[in-house]
Amino acid sequence: MAEKMFVCKRCERSYSYPQPEERPIRCECGWWYYNDGAAIREIFWQRIEPYRTPHDLLRMFEAGV
Ligand SMILES: [Zn+2]
Repeated sequence: MAEKMFVCKRCERSYSYPQPEERPIRCECGWWYYNDGAAIREIFWQRIEPYRTPHDLLRMFEAGV
């Protein structure tokens, strides 16, 4: 069986499908995707304006490193 893939809607890059509890996909185009256990959530992170990043998401990253 082929691995299930997740395709970025904005740039069509493909990634292995995000699983709950896993670190988010950080797409090259600036959109992040993560699986919250019920659905794929989408966040746009402008790297030059990190203060816009939700604190909950930042915490997920810090915990996963
Ligand atoms: Zn993308």
